[in-house]
Amino acid sequence: MEVFAVDGLPEIRPGDDLAALIDANAAIRDDDVVCVASTVVSKAEGRQADLAAFPAGDRARDIAERIADETDEQKDPRFAQAVLEESEELVLEAPFLLAVTRFGHTTVNAGIDRSNVPDADLLLLPADPTASAERLRAGLEADPAVVVTDTSGRPFRHGQRGVALGWAGIPASRDWRGEHDRDGRELGVTVQSVVDELAGAANLVTGEGAGGTPVAVVRDFAFGEHAGSDELFRDPETDFVRQALREWDY
Ligand code: GDP
Ligand code: MN
Ligand code: MN
Repeated sequence: MEVFAVDGLPEIRPGDDLAALIDANAAIRDDDVVCVASTVVSKAEGRQADLAAFPAGDRARDIAERIADETDEQKDPRFAQAVLEESEELVLEAPFLLAVTRFGHTTVNAGIDRSNVPDADLLLLPADPTASAERLRAGLEADPAVVVTDTSGRPFRHGQRGVALGWAGIPASRDWRGEHDRDGRELGVTVQSVVDELAGAANLVTGEGAGGTPVAVVRDFAFGEHAGSDELFRDPETDFVRQALREWDY
């Protein structure tokens, strides 16, 4: 398997045809996985926004005050309002905003970025990254799989990593249940989140800064003839960690 970044992409603007730009800068093959940073998907989809578009309501002002009390961060209440409007639910309000996006991804600040956004205060995540991945896939000349990625923190571990937000042309996970280990023991629980692992590999070559390489191609990876699943985001009602956070009197 090989992973390489696509060079030569310009600064992406609202309305840009990202699939055409990718095709113009790389010879994509049918069995590639094209991993695209959500940043440029959002830019092409016009998800730039200014803080002025989010006049803060009472809850947003309360959250900003709590964060200021508990940390030394001065959170703009309008930013808290933007996170609220982009979220299905807040899992934590302070010391940071941990939000579940409307498409089911749980992340700090609902994934709203303030870096690599030249013409606006904020860049919101794509509204429906799997729909974005499907559109990109339909727009590319070849027939690869597409994964829309973001850099995201995770609980229990330091550091951020690439994760999949949406995908098309590949199942999210490979189900190992029913297969056997080297001792012949049947695997009972292992479901491998393949799209997250591809996103992690892609993030290694796209980087986080000024590199200008938002697209990575994974070549010669084969999902294989395995059972797959598209369940990536846990159902809130059966997610024990989220339940515990809800009940935690923080
Ligand atoms: P995120 O992980 O999706 O939030 O994206 P990042 O902000 O980490 O950026 C990932 C990569 O894309 C970095 O190499 C950035 O320099 C690059 N990048 C971000 N926006 C653009 C853009 O509009 N055009 C190009 N060519 N690269 C960009
Ligand atoms: Mn991001
Ligand atoms: Mn990133």
